[in-house]
Amino acid sequence: MDALPPRSLSETGTELDLRAFYRLIALATQLDAVDPALPALAGHLDVASLAIMAPGERREHAAEDGSHLSVPLMFHDRQLGELRATVRPGTDTAILAARLKFFSPAIALHLVMSTRFEERATESAQRGQLARDLHDERDRLEAVLDATNDAILLVDTQDTLTMATPQFESFTGISRYDILGMPVEHLVQRIGERPGLPAAMTNMISALAGNFTESLGGEFELTEPQRRILVWYSLPVYVRSGVLLGRIFAFRDATRERELDRMKTDFISLVSHELRTPLTSVKGFSDLLLENGADRLDDEIREYVDIIAFNADRLITLINDILDITRIDSDRIELKPEGCMIAEIIDQAAAILHIQLDQRGHTLTIDVPRTLPPIWADPARLVQVMTNLLANAIKYTIHSGEIAVSAFVANSADDLPATAPHAQIFPCVIVSVHDTGIGIAPDDAEKLFQRFYRIETSESRGIGGTGLGLAIVKSLVELQGGRVWFESTPMQGSTFSFSVPTASGSHLASY
Ligand code: ADP
Repeated sequence: MDALPPRSLSETGTELDLRAFYRLIALATQLDAVDPALPALAGHLDVASLAIMAPGERREHAAEDGSHLSVPLMFHDRQLGELRATVRPGTDTAILAARLKFFSPAIALHLVMSTRFEERATESAQRGQLARDLHDERDRLEAVLDATNDAILLVDTQDTLTMATPQFESFTGISRYDILGMPVEHLVQRIGERPGLPAAMTNMISALAGNFTESLGGEFELTEPQRRILVWYSLPVYVRSGVLLGRIFAFRDATRERELDRMKTDFISLVSHELRTPLTSVKGFSDLLLENGADRLDDEIREYVDIIAFNADRLITLINDILDITRIDSDRIELKPEGCMIAEIIDQAAAILHIQLDQRGHTLTIDVPRTLPPIWADPARLVQVMTNLLANAIKYTIHSGEIAVSAFVANSADDLPATAPHAQIFPCVIVSVHDTGIGIAPDDAEKLFQRFYRIETSESRGIGGTGLGLAIVKSLVELQGGRVWFESTPMQGSTFSFSVPTASGSHLASY
C-alpha cells in the first residue's frame, strides 16, 4: 500500500479530490480494467479526456501540441505508463498537473491490480484447462471402468466410498448414488438390509476396510436380485508415486464359469462311474482265474491274465483318483470323522502295500508310539492318504531301500519341525514317511502338489503314475484340518509329513 500518496494529499488535495481518490481506489478493487474509471475522473478534473499511455518519455508539464498533459504512473520505482489528459483551452496546466499527479498513484495501483488480475485470469485459464483435462481423463477412466464386466468399489483412506461402477448396482440392486461419497459403514448397512446378499459380503467389506496391507480373495453366492456366484478380490491401491489411494473391492460374475465347471465335473464323474463297473468285473474275473483256475492255466496264459489284472488295477486306481478329484472340486466328498488311532491307520496302509514292499525288497520300519492320543479323522480317507504316501515312497525308491514311518504329537508351534508350516491346529499328530529314494529337486517343490504334475527325470522315467496322488493327499489332509509338507535331497531321499488334529483339538478344525 505504499503506492498511496499521503504526502501529496496535503500538498494538493481538496476534499473533493480526496473523495474522488478513494472512489478510484474502491473502483480499482472492484473492476477488472482501469479504463472504465477514467471518464468519471476526466469529468471530475474537467479535462476533455483521460487516457493511459504506454511508458514513454517522462514529461510532467510539457503539453504536446499544446493540448495534452501527461504525468508518469509510478509503482514503486517502476514506471507503468503515463496518465495523459486532453486539456481544454484556458486550463491552468500547473494546477491540472498537480491534480493529475495527485491521482496518479491511485491509477498506478489500479493498473497494477488489473495486470495482476490479467495474470490471475491467465493462470486460472491455465488451471481451468488443467481441470478440464483432468476431468476428461476421469471421464475416460470412468467410461472404461463402467464398460468392464466387473463391479469395482474404491474405499479411500478416510473410509469413504469414492468409486462404485454400475455393475455393482446390477449385482446387488443397491443404487450407487445411494452409497457414493458415503462412509463404508453405510455401504455395509445397505448390503445388510438387502435380502439375498450374503453376510459373507458385509463381513468381508467390514473386515478389510481400513486394512491397507492385505490382499485377499474369495467367492460367495447371491440369491437376489438374481442368483449369482461372485468371485471377489480386494487389495490396497497405491498410485505410482507410492501414495496410498485406498482399498479396491472387485467382484466378478463367475456364475456361468461355475455352471460349466459343474457340468464338466458331472460329466467326468458319470463317465468314470460307467468305466469302473466293467473294469471291476475285468479285475474280478482275472483275479478269480488267477486264484481258482491257476492250475488249469498254462504259464503263457497265466502271464497274460496277470497283465490283465495288473492293468485293470491301474485303471481302477486312476478312475478312483479322478472320481476323488471331482468330488473334492464339487464339495461332494463325504468325510466321516471319528476318534481313531493313527497307529492302526498306518498298519492298515502297510498291510495294503506289503506285496509291493516285498517285491521291491524295501524294508519298512514303523516307529509310532501306541500311546499317541486319538486323532479326529475319517479313517478310510486317512488310510488313503497313508497308502498314497507309502506307495510313492516304494515307487520312487528304485533299489532296495529303507522306508520309515514315524509319528509324534505336537502341542504347540514349538514342537514343530523347522520345515513344517506354522499355521496348524494344536494339539495335532504329525506323521512322516521317510524314504531313501530318488528325491526331489528344489525347483519342483512348488508344483509337486498340483494336479497331474509329474517330475520327468532319468530316474523317474518308466515309473507309472497320474500325478493326482499328492493333490488328493493335500486336499484330504486339509479338509480334515491338517497340513502337508515335505523335505527332500535329490538322490538321497524324501520325507513327506502331514498333520491331523487330535480328537481334543478337533473342535478347532473347520470341517
Ligand atoms: P504320481 O506318483 O502318480 O506321479 P503323485 O501326485 O503322487 O503322482 O506325485 C507327483 C510327483 O511327485 C511324482 O510324479 C514324483 O515325481 C514326485 N514324488 C512323489 N513322491 C515322491 C517321493 N517319495 N520321492 C520322489 N519323488 C516323489
